[in-house]
Amino acid sequence: MSSQVRTFEVKTFGCQMNVHDSERMAGLLVEAGYEENQSGDPDVIVFNTCAVRENADNRLYGNLGMLRQLKVANPDFQIAVGGCLAQKDRAQIIERAPWVDAVFGTHNVAALPVLLERARINGEAQAEFAEQLQDFPSALPTKRDSLYSAWVSISVGCNNTCTFCIVPSLRGKEKDRRPGEILSEIKALVAEGVVEITLLGQNVNAYGVEFGDRQAFAKLLRACGEIEGLRRVRFTSPHPRDFTDDVIQAMAETPNVMPQLHMPLQSGSDTVLARMRRSYRSKKYLDIIDLARREIPGVAISTDIIVGFPGETEEDFQQTLEVVEQAKFDASFTFEYSPRPGTPAAEFDDQIDPQIVSDRYMRLDVLTKQLAWDGNKAIVGDQVEVLVHESHGKKDDSTGRLTGRARDNRLVHFNGDGQDIEPGDFVVTEVTRAAPYHLLADGAPISVDRSAREFAVSCGASSGGQEPGAVSMGMPSFPGA
Ligand code: SF4
Repeated sequence: MSSQVRTFEVKTFGCQMNVHDSERMAGLLVEAGYEENQSGDPDVIVFNTCAVRENADNRLYGNLGMLRQLKVANPDFQIAVGGCLAQKDRAQIIERAPWVDAVFGTHNVAALPVLLERARINGEAQAEFAEQLQDFPSALPTKRDSLYSAWVSISVGCNNTCTFCIVPSLRGKEKDRRPGEILSEIKALVAEGVVEITLLGQNVNAYGVEFGDRQAFAKLLRACGEIEGLRRVRFTSPHPRDFTDDVIQAMAETPNVMPQLHMPLQSGSDTVLARMRRSYRSKKYLDIIDLARREIPGVAISTDIIVGFPGETEEDFQQTLEVVEQAKFDASFTFEYSPRPGTPAAEFDDQIDPQIVSDRYMRLDVLTKQLAWDGNKAIVGDQVEVLVHESHGKKDDSTGRLTGRARDNRLVHFNGDGQDIEPGDFVVTEVTRAAPYHLLADGAPISVDRSAREFAVSCGASSGGQEPGAVSMGMPSFPGA
């Protein structure tokens, strides 16, 4: 083995929870003396897998198959597999791909460096799986992708049993972090220059169930409002069943909680919701949205919808279209249902013909796109505050535009007018045009606030790569809540 520092690459599949876990995997490896790979082949590849997406296992084994030759040519090269598919398939992964060095479950992220080391010393694959979470991912070292935005997990696991979802069997029952611990982490992040946090949980508004406080999530939002220097607070994902008015009041009354609500609808048919084992009904969903729109000026509402769930009739689908029409979603993430092994719905005997599913998907897509566009058009002429993120801060040379997210998380491409504008800056600009999935601001910025960037630079931070702050309007949250 060479005496050089070993390099790694983490490949992430799936939801925000996995993105967050990947930052922890990278942080653990950096703490153990590895360096993130910048060019060429890394010494270690970690796959953080997802069991929710269709053909997730085919993709993983395809990727592993492609790496086999690399492993044969260079036995020092190591491969690790973590995440939901690892938790589901466990030792099977080593049976199917014996050239893999380490497999670890969703509750064993902290073990990654030790497993790699043991595999190297013992010359055989290592695996570790726990049924229960030992450490919250946030308690582990991290290597964040953004200087200005960070994920903060408030809970993991889920006590619901939606029939299409494999999360409860892989992530376990809900476990809540204590508020003091969460707030300390946020304050430490702000002291490092973070201005935007996203509170993360499979079902954030059930937060507190473990320590018996039904209002804990609203209180947490209000407590975030007290943190000086924290300019944007987002969260994903809430469950309509657990949505209480105090959360909307806390959103409305806490200025740094952004006017953005991503709440999965999944279906507009009460019959389908019942078969999905989702205990709210469409009326309750629409009532929550009405209240949010009344209480939170300019709130943008986005959702997840599954089309073609087993037994869904044309009438059920029409009901989804009606609810979508009434809800006037600003963004929708729509999914064609396909059976996922290990979920109850995969065993239902009234699966829908894929041709019908895809036809309904297209019809829904036309409607959701039009509604999103209408919502964006209504903003033309307004002034919006844009936070320039790492992945968007680079000037597009062909257009001279920069990109960031508005307070309601809409994507805004704006004219930087040749000014000194970088990731971390807050720019106020006027929206001049609307497209279905973004806004355009063609005039020069009205104001540029560089204080967050200057503060982060004074903390000695250096720039990263992606945009963890782009949550619901930029990235679907399925399967959370
Ligand atoms: S869809 Fe959401 S609420 Fe339902 S079981 Fe999965 S994680 Fe829990």
